[in-house]
Parts: sequence; C-alpha cells; structure tokens
Amino acid sequence: MTLPPWRPARRAERMNPSVIREILKVTERPGMLSMAGGLPSPLTFPVEAMREAAARVLRDHPQAALQYAASEGYAPLREWVATHLRGQGLEVGADQVLITTGSQQGLDLIAKVLVDAGAPVAVETPTYLGALQAFGPCEPTFASVAGDADGPLPEALEALRQEAPGCRLFYVLPNFQNPTGRLIPEARRVELVRAAQRAGIPLVEDNPYGDLWYDAPPPPSLSARWPEGSLYLGSFSKVLAPGLRLGYLVAPGALYPKLLQAKQAADLHTSSFDQRLVAEVLREGFLERHTPTIRARYRQQRDAMQAALLRSLPPGSQWQCPQGGMFFWLRLPAGCDAGELLEAAVAQGIAYVPGAAFYAHAADRRTLRLSFVTLTTQEIDDGVAVLGRVLREHLDALEEPTP
Ligand code: PMP
Repeated sequence: MTLPPWRPARRAERMNPSVIREILKVTERPGMLSMAGGLPSPLTFPVEAMREAAARVLRDHPQAALQYAASEGYAPLREWVATHLRGQGLEVGADQVLITTGSQQGLDLIAKVLVDAGAPVAVETPTYLGALQAFGPCEPTFASVAGDADGPLPEALEALRQEAPGCRLFYVLPNFQNPTGRLIPEARRVELVRAAQRAGIPLVEDNPYGDLWYDAPPPPSLSARWPEGSLYLGSFSKVLAPGLRLGYLVAPGALYPKLLQAKQAADLHTSSFDQRLVAEVLREGFLERHTPTIRARYRQQRDAMQAALLRSLPPGSQWQCPQGGMFFWLRLPAGCDAGELLEAAVAQGIAYVPGAAFYAHAADRRTLRLSFVTLTTQEIDDGVAVLGRVLREHLDALEEPTP
C-alpha cells in the first residue's frame, strides 16, 4: 500500500479519540441500558416551540436568517445572554458576549488565544474530558489541582505560583461538574478566587449545568467575583438542545478582540439561522418556564439513581448524591478497576464511562461516571442492579481462595 504524502503536524499527535465516543459505539446495541452517555434527554427538547419559532424566522426575516452575519453573534441573542447573566449577579455587557458554536468551540478558541506549547494550564482532578481534548493540541503542560468533596483546594491552586510559573489559566467547573456532579460551595468559591488572584492565574469558568439544580440554585459564579480575570462559558445544549451547537463566551474587554479573531478564523460566525431561531424561542421568558420542567424530570431520575445505588452497590462503594447536573461519580471498593470491569458490565447489558479518561495525570482507576437523564426510573433501577451484581461477582471472585 502506498501512503499519500501527508505529514501530520506535531499537534495532531495530541488529538485522541474520545474514550466516551468509543464506548458509545458499543452501547448502541439494542437492549443495552447505557449510563455512559453525556446526552441530555431528548424528551426535554422544546420541539413545538422550535417548530413555531423556525416558521416565524423564515416568514419574517428569511434573507437575513440565511445570510452571512457578524462574527460576534446576533445582537438580540447577545443582549439576551447579558441580561440572563446579570440576573445571576454577573455584571456583563452585550459587547462582552461572543456567540460560539457550542461552548466546546469556546474552549478551542481560548486554547488558541491563551496557550503556547509548553505553557502550564491548570485543571481540576478529575476534569471535563472535552477540555483536555480542546487544550491538548496547543501542547500545554497540564497541572492537576488536587481537590476534595468541595472542589479544588485553594492552597493547591496557589502553590502553582511556584510549581507551574506562568500558568496561563485554571479551567474550573463550579456547578455540577462533568464528571463528578460536584458543586463548589460559596465559601470555597471565595477562597479559590482569592488564591487565583494571589497566584496571578486567570480563571476559565465553564457552566453548562448551572440551571440544572435540583435542591437549591448554585451560589454566584466565580467570574462575578473577579470579572477582569475570568472568562465565562455558557451553553444552550442542556437547557434547549445540543444539536443546535449554540453556546457563548464572556470575555473581559482586553481579551475580546483576540477571541473574536480566533472565532473569525475558525468558522466566520455561528449559524445565523440557529441564532435567530434561539433568540425567537427565548423571547418572553421561555427559559423561565422551560427549565423547571427539565429540573422536575431530572430530579426524579436523580432520586431514583440514588435509591438504586443505596440498594444495590456493595459495601466500600463511595459516592455523593449530586445536587444538580446529569451525573453520579462512583468510587468502587478496593480491588475494582472500572476500566477492566466494563467488559463484564457490557456483556450483562449495561455501560458506564470509566473515570480514568477524565484525569490529566495519575488516574484513579476505581472511579466511574453514570448518567441518569436518558433512562426511565425503571431502567435506572435495573441498570444499577446489574452494576451491583457485576461488582459483587468480581469481589466474590477476589475473595475465593486460590487452589
Ligand atoms: N463543557 C462541559 C463541562 C460539558 O460537559 C460539555 C458537553 N458535554 C461542554 C462543555 C460542551 O457543550 P456544548 O459544546 O454542547 O455547549
């Protein structure tokens, strides 16, 4: 076989297939109870509101909706984002909002603008896999910030001043983190921002799950405490629909022009039609009516999974019931490797994501992520029961005396 004369760039070596996508391929088998996905429930998509809004956009502004448009984004949508965030205590002007093709693109633009090869980039332990993928090709040196049940440790962040001088940013997910589901409480937020300020490390705050709270709304964002030192990412994927690929980036004035240039180079602008469609859907307080329905649905599923885990998991399993978002994060008893056990789990008809993929360094192989939003409560009961059985069988085999 003759190879064509391609010579991939060095950064291409840092582009890896997502472990999750590989697992999802296996789980598409009929009858599989998959707790592996990161997809929102399609039952939450506001199909009727979209259909009507699409018809109105195409009736009232067909040519503008189908024409090239400004890289910054559609002005009424930028206004909506700024107003929405001001309602949550973030002092934002519409001119600081950059509409992106999903918040995933925001991560890509941030990497291009802020990360040089070899430069330190701080992440949580564990962190969102998609951020590791977006930053990776810019060849940073990842610095993993140790954490506890309340999130990253301020002293670990501050220590980077010596341990990783010139750290370009700290990527942090305060609300219902993917993968752990953990919420950073207010006191820890205050300390973290102080630590970041003392260490001179800017924050990249990613908040796709903040509106999916089941017990109480989350405390104010980190960016609200340090607007000039923070970039903030938001998304319509979890509250409207992810197929729209619509998100936003809020940047301080000093950084906005560079991010805008990166956006221009990446895709000129996010789909004009989709932006107008969403701006039309969002008029007159739609989200205030819609998100409570998503929360009510997911809260039931969250409660079902918590009950099923309490019922089915063997002693020594550890987890915290998430107060929002889409995921449970488990730490299995000693002697269990979630990656090795996946094959047995899939053979018995369930799937999850082994936690190792979410670590920049030194993965904890006893961890795994379970999504609860795409299964019925009965399926959650059944799926978790199977997981319990797989774990017990494995632990029993460990205990059997070798002949
Ligand atoms: N950040 C986090 C933490 C996520 O979980 C996701 C989606 N799974 C994204 C960003 C990307 O979301 P989107 O591009 O759909 O806005």
